Amino acid sequence: MLAACRSGNGGEGAGPTTTARAAGPTLRAADLPGDPFTLGVASGDPLDDAVVLWTRLAPEPFAAGGGMPSGDLEVAWELVDDERDRVLDSGTALAAADLGHSVHVDVRGLEPDRPYRYRFMVGDFETPVARTRTAPAPGSGDRLRLGHVSCQMFDQGYYTAYADLAADDDLDLVVHCGDYIYENPSGGQVRDDSLPVATTIDDYRARYALYRSDADLRAAHALCPWIVTWDDHEVEDNYHGSTPKETSTTPDPEEFAARRAAAYRAWWEHMPVRFDSPDGPDLRIHRSLGWGRLAELVVLDTRQYRSDQVCAEGPADIGPRCDAAADPDFTMLGAEQERWLDERLEEVDAAWTALVQGVAVMQWRFAPGNAAWNLDAWDGYPAARDRFLASLRSSGAPHPVVLTGDVHSSWVGALAEDFDDASARPFGTEHIAPGVTSPAPQILRDVLGAVLDHSPHVRWGEADHRGWVRHDVTPDEWRSEYRLVDDVTVEGSAVTTATRWVTPAGGTVTEA
Ligand code: FE
Ligand code: CA
Repeated sequence: MLAACRSGNGGEGAGPTTTARAAGPTLRAADLPGDPFTLGVASGDPLDDAVVLWTRLAPEPFAAGGGMPSGDLEVAWELVDDERDRVLDSGTALAAADLGHSVHVDVRGLEPDRPYRYRFMVGDFETPVARTRTAPAPGSGDRLRLGHVSCQMFDQGYYTAYADLAADDDLDLVVHCGDYIYENPSGGQVRDDSLPVATTIDDYRARYALYRSDADLRAAHALCPWIVTWDDHEVEDNYHGSTPKETSTTPDPEEFAARRAAAYRAWWEHMPVRFDSPDGPDLRIHRSLGWGRLAELVVLDTRQYRSDQVCAEGPADIGPRCDAAADPDFTMLGAEQERWLDERLEEVDAAWTALVQGVAVMQWRFAPGNAAWNLDAWDGYPAARDRFLASLRSSGAPHPVVLTGDVHSSWVGALAEDFDDASARPFGTEHIAPGVTSPAPQILRDVLGAVLDHSPHVRWGEADHRGWVRHDVTPDEWRSEYRLVDDVTVEGSAVTTATRWVTPAGGTVTEA
């Protein structure tokens, strides 16, 4: 139990990842041109004794450097109890100019399975009090209520899904499967995105500022801790590892490496993650977090290390597989992440193995033969997928549930060793979140029926609506509820449960 009123102790046991880099404050609160907390707050990567608290100072969020004067500034943080009049822990962290004045505080020494509240303060400015929580201790915990989101093109719609999610006081955790920002305006007419295509650190910072200008998104971050991964659009559409797509605005490899470095840095600056800031074009984000006896949350990176897609991609990334896709070196996760995953899976000590990652694992067969596969997903990396599925099986990792984004449509499927064999016994489940606003490509809507007809392990698909997925997890069953928004182009549109699914531990996903 944390002692009350430990104010000013610098956060005993806290490991603020930002202070390690900077010498000391060179700015005072009086130097601020206005309220610096325009981007809200967030928390993330909860452990059973720790959670990361985040904010970033940006009094003028769209200006270069967020409108901050040059120099570093000390920011105070407080953990407060539910009544707010009692401070449980507090400290200061340095908002360093070279880290975009972002603040990441790794508060340690907390009690397991407990709600907490927190806020940040600079001078007379303070954030609203936000909620977070710790994970249950190993071997304990009765339930996990999980929000599952992805793909949120700002100009294509309202974040009604986040308003619905943020209204759920019982939510423990949100996982984001990527495409948190899009690097360019997407041509949507619903909300204004007049920012340029992002290639520099200031461009990417401005895009995060645009997305966080949405009050529903900020409310969702203030509700509970998030665990995030990324997909392509945090850098650029359909990049593969260190290779940009053919029509990239930065086709030169060195130019693309500099752009990836800027994009990864801006992502780190805006996400409540526990690792250090990147220094260059690489950032390891794959990691694993336990949630008591309920689940191990294994977070994968399906972008940074993947092989360049050499099979010819047609519209919406769909095309035939070429011989190169069968090459054992043709990788989705990269050799190092694959080895790490193999080891992690051996050690899972919980009822469920939840895999938070970017692109569809389940096979989508559009037609008999080899004419058409979604080459950007695991379908385009068949040898790598065989290894991934074999690893899930041979490790004996308890019931895998894959949580996915990317395709702007909802899908429920079973994991099987042979996706073409209708009698192959499923050993896992995959849920694909519909995306918060990003529209489904027309070609996907056109072929959805054919995919369902030709893919025996795909149980359900829906491409007409956006939304989010709520998962209620107990040691015995994994229940999933697809919350779909009537029309994301209309503010305040109705959100309803479209369908419910249940996977019994060790069993097969069925409609509930
Ligand atoms: Fe997307
Ligand atoms: Ca994507």
